[in-house]
Amino acid sequence: MNCTETREIIHSYLNDELEEQLLAGVVSHLAGCSGCRRELGNLHTSLDWLRKTYPEQAPPGDLWEKIQGAIETR
Ligand SMILES: [Zn+2]
Repeated sequence: MNCTETREIIHSYLNDELEEQLLAGVVSHLAGCSGCRRELGNLHTSLDWLRKTYPEQAPPGDLWEKIQGAIETR
């Protein structure tokens, strides 16, 4: 998985819509790519704001743990 592929599906990743194989690809790419982690961080910040503003549309709770795990793997 390269940066272009990752960023094309990163929204699906944030929405927890990826099938297992793609999810694993994204997570392992993020572990080794600071550029995509930064991109994900930006999206995360935006979604965090959305989550507080529209709590009824919040994504599943374990999604944030997955993201956190991916970001902390440096
Ligand atoms: Zn990348």
